[in-house]
Amino acid sequence: MAAVDAIPLVNTHEHIIPEHERVALDVDFFSLAGHYAINDLISAGLSGDELRVVRDESAPAQRRWQAFEPYWNRARFTGYGQALRIAIRDIYGVENISGDTLATINERIRAKNQPGLYEDILIRRSNIDYSVLDDYWNAAPSAPNPKFFVYARKFDRFVSPQSLDNIGALEQLTDVSITNLGGLKRAMERSFEQSLEAGMVNVKSTLAYNREIHYAEVSEFEAEQDIQQLLNNRRSIPSGFRNRIERPYRRLEDHLFHHLMQLAQEHKIPVQIHTGLHAGNGNFIENSKPTHLTNLFFIYPTVQFDLFHLSYPYQGELSVLAKIFPNVHIDFCWAHIISGYLSRRALHEMLETVPANKLFGYGGDYRYPELSYAHAKMARRNISRVLTEKVEEGFCSETEALELARMLLHDNPDHMFGWRRR
Ligand SMILES: [Zn+2]
Repeated sequence: MAAVDAIPLVNTHEHIIPEHERVALDVDFFSLAGHYAINDLISAGLSGDELRVVRDESAPAQRRWQAFEPYWNRARFTGYGQALRIAIRDIYGVENISGDTLATINERIRAKNQPGLYEDILIRRSNIDYSVLDDYWNAAPSAPNPKFFVYARKFDRFVSPQSLDNIGALEQLTDVSITNLGGLKRAMERSFEQSLEAGMVNVKSTLAYNREIHYAEVSEFEAEQDIQQLLNNRRSIPSGFRNRIERPYRRLEDHLFHHLMQLAQEHKIPVQIHTGLHAGNGNFIENSKPTHLTNLFFIYPTVQFDLFHLSYPYQGELSVLAKIFPNVHIDFCWAHIISGYLSRRALHEMLETVPANKLFGYGGDYRYPELSYAHAKMARRNISRVLTEKVEEGFCSETEALELARMLLHDNPDHMFGWRRR
């Protein structure tokens, strides 16, 4: 369906760095491979000195390739590998990634790395109307370029401070002194206001990387006990991965997450939540089950929740949640590069289980626009293939299939994230 390519995308989720920062970097093939393809090479066995060589920007390109190649041969068929291959082929005109073509690839990436890159890739080649940009580090807000982006803000560091240093950083960020629960809440409120002024269109949370995402209803009294212990440095924090299952200040975190939801409710701001597969290598997948969030859907019926990444491997749970709760939406961001087949299978099923207004078809979820382009191409291909099959099955007419494509790729996410642009 060529008509699907003509639909301008509302891209629900990106990590793209500002263009002026990007063109100042010495970006090469290994930079692009560093997000996310490298994680599958690590999964395939790349480690230790060889991994250090791949990541060493001062090492000769051929030496880096030698370390990269054996694992690339194993990992290149995954969705991340496919996206990288599409980006290199379509944007840099190199069909095969190999030791022989590496120098050409790097030359072309460097030649193109100049102002105008984002206009070319995001608008001209990808036909992206606008993207929801994640703030990475939650420093003082500054609005991204409105030509390409609207702005999502995270408040996770207000929800889950683990040390006095963390508290000090929040005081600095907001100019609010934090000596008790009320202080921490005021600091979060200040940051929320600053973010609204900077153009925030929605809240984003990635706490599933750090802990289980069930947020119990905890009294102020209990949360105050926790923060007093924190301010007096009373509890030790388990190190490394153990901290993702043992949370010494869990009651405080739970209470503050509800405070954040109340702010979202008061200001009518949608909430994006990471669910399912974690980026990187190594985590507790069960922490990120979308059904952990069910109490929130009851307690905050007017807050619109956008659940990320198909909650993979819990896409069945997500489908049920979106079917029974009017305020739960399904987001295919990151999904088409996790697996095309997964995305097609899930879409086939969800078109039958969930009202069509609740499906968001594409979110690039990349640091480099070349890869967002590849992801957009994969998303359009998957959606158009499923809709073609649906027409063949007699599920809908061709006109209806096009209406569905337009809803998934533009209208549904635009309804949630385009409110400042209208
Ligand atoms: Zn992301």
